[in-house]
Amino acid sequence: MKIAIISDIHGNLEALTSAFQVIQSRGITKIFCLGDIVGYGADPGACIDFLVNHHVRAVVGNHDRALFDRHVLMCFNRNAKHAIEWTQQHLTETQKEYLHSLPYVMTEGECTFVHASPLQPQEWDYLMSYRDASAAFPAFSTAICWIGHTHVPEIFAEDVTRETLERGKRFIVNVGSVGQPRDHDNRLSFCIFDTKDWNFEHIREPYDIAAAHKKIIDAGLPRWLGDRLANGS
Ligand code: ZN
Repeated sequence: MKIAIISDIHGNLEALTSAFQVIQSRGITKIFCLGDIVGYGADPGACIDFLVNHHVRAVVGNHDRALFDRHVLMCFNRNAKHAIEWTQQHLTETQKEYLHSLPYVMTEGECTFVHASPLQPQEWDYLMSYRDASAAFPAFSTAICWIGHTHVPEIFAEDVTRETLERGKRFIVNVGSVGQPRDHDNRLSFCIFDTKDWNFEHIREPYDIAAAHKKIIDAGLPRWLGDRLANGS
């Protein structure tokens, strides 16, 4: 069965709907989201509703948690904090309850799903190197752990010699970000994985960045949050 794994939507409805055009054109109905549904972008509520309506199964990200946890919010820079305070005022109680209800970790079959790292998921550490990955492998028991958080797509193999997914080996895969890519490629990023034959695809797709940028400006959110969408950084 083919599944889609998306992450770091960050209130970018243009990117989310473009990702779904690809997902639906492939006939994929099982979708997992690795958190950070809100924060930065101008459509947090619409993105939550879209995921709920499409029966997406999600875990919580640090930006989602920051709405309820001051300790998480305190770690944010000025622009990110501003965006969370703005988001706080633009969500319904039902949408906030949805974010509050999301688990830190989910497991299904050979896959674990978590926002930042399977090692202490509530600490929101950035898993960016093989050193970080080797410390995280003992923290989950499935073959693959899907992560987001850094907004930079990457594959870490347990034996460090693999560059693509291969049955019998273990992997941590960062799917990149749908709503705010930071690897200097401004196209949205997510993954498709066939749980039966282990066929793996990393999808990069353009979307209407100008529209998402305009909404950020019109909402009175920091201009820098719009500019970085075009820069992909
Ligand atoms: Zn994020």
